[in-house]
Amino acid sequence: MHYYRPEIDELATKIMEYARWRAELEPVPMGGTATAEDLRNELGPTITPDGIGGLAALKAFTDVLAPACLSVDHNRYLSFVPAAPTEAAILFDLVVGAESIYGGSWMEGAGAAYAENEALRWLTDLAGLDGNAGGVFVPGGTVGNLSALVGGRQLASDRLAELGRPRPERWVLLISNTAHSSVPAAARVMDADVVALPTDDDRRLRGDTVAGALDRYGDAVAAVVATAGTTNLGIIDDLRSIGEVCRSRQVFFHVDAAYGGAALAAPSARPLFDGIELADSIIIDPHKWLFAPFDCCALLWRDPDVARRAHAQNADYLAFLDSFGDWNPSDFAIHLTRRARGLPFWFSLATYGTDAYAQAVETNLEVSAQAARRIQEAPHVQLAFEPGLSVVVFERIGWVAEDYQACSERMLADKVAFVVPSRHDGKPVFRFCFVNPRTTVDDIDAILDAMA
Ligand SMILES: *Cc1c(COP(=O)(O)O)cnc(C)c1O
Repeated sequence: MHYYRPEIDELATKIMEYARWRAELEPVPMGGTATAEDLRNELGPTITPDGIGGLAALKAFTDVLAPACLSVDHNRYLSFVPAAPTEAAILFDLVVGAESIYGGSWMEGAGAAYAENEALRWLTDLAGLDGNAGGVFVPGGTVGNLSALVGGRQLASDRLAELGRPRPERWVLLISNTAHSSVPAAARVMDADVVALPTDDDRRLRGDTVAGALDRYGDAVAAVVATAGTTNLGIIDDLRSIGEVCRSRQVFFHVDAAYGGAALAAPSARPLFDGIELADSIIIDPHKWLFAPFDCCALLWRDPDVARRAHAQNADYLAFLDSFGDWNPSDFAIHLTRRARGLPFWFSLATYGTDAYAQAVETNLEVSAQAARRIQEAPHVQLAFEPGLSVVVFERIGWVAEDYQACSERMLADKVAFVVPSRHDGKPVFRFCFVNPRTTVDDIDAILDAMA
């Protein structure tokens, strides 16, 4: 299994050809879904004592398994938060896989960590964090949020110890009622309580609301969480007022910008993030709107030392690594072994340059503004809320939840689009999320026609 023999050479050619074909395809297939029973019947056993051989396994993937997955990078996949990795990022992901880099320590993966840090530096600069800031790429926003909040709790706990005050019986996380589901999930893992604060009419959390809650929960607060680009509506909380309250009360301020943080790169949207530089930690998912392949979340720390105190693992068998400088990516989140998953993102940034990123994000913002106009003009649909960033939420006039569901299923079956219903203020809505620069206004028209 570990030697490169002629039959492997044939397999290598086939795999490279397939990967290249998939990268070149325009448009990509929409793909689909299947039941386990369908797949079992079509495939038969694939894991056998003698092996079915690489060519047969590849055929099983290309002919049966891949078509049973949706292509998240399809120009009409507009549900949830899609993805649209660049050609350079996709290709370089193959190299990262071939390279066997241990991405956990500087000593073992210095070159990879250096490049990842360059990409992280671009993000900390966009956010305006100071020069000591740094972080690490983790699998996703969920792990990023959890790692950040554990860091916040560490800092709160250290502060209370310094002041000689007791630790609370229960830690509290102050979040907004629009926070992503991964934030309450993190609280459950931490066995902390969540206090979901109300947002104003424009759905933004504000500093005075946070200040009131801090008066009430005092020393029990482990961190305050704001969202920069809510998943359902693309709304950015009032980061400046929240950040100022957190600074003055010495409370850890985390900004969840998993989806929206990409828009820091777009000059037209940057002012919406005013105050993000006050954050103690930020997450941004390049696998969402910065055109990196799954899985890739940037977790940024204003003071990486806080992360070290919370996350560095110490053991006799790791001591050797610590003697080679202190920037070990494993120290900054909940993990030890890690794929150098920031490398495809770094490679793509290096290849195309940051201006191309700014332009691509602006393109998405422009298409979402055009989509909003189309919705205002069409007789059968109406905007449910003013679009935030690249999320557009709208009603199909006269339809109930079942109609939305049936239309979504029909559009997928007909390979028109993958657009699923969401809810807004208790009412069913359709939701577009634009992160794919290949999506055009013609795509919007075709989808709106399918809803007529
Ligand atoms: C997607 C998302 C997350 C979770 O990120 P994953 O990468 O899916 O784990 C967290 N917060 C927000 C605001 C998101 O949009």
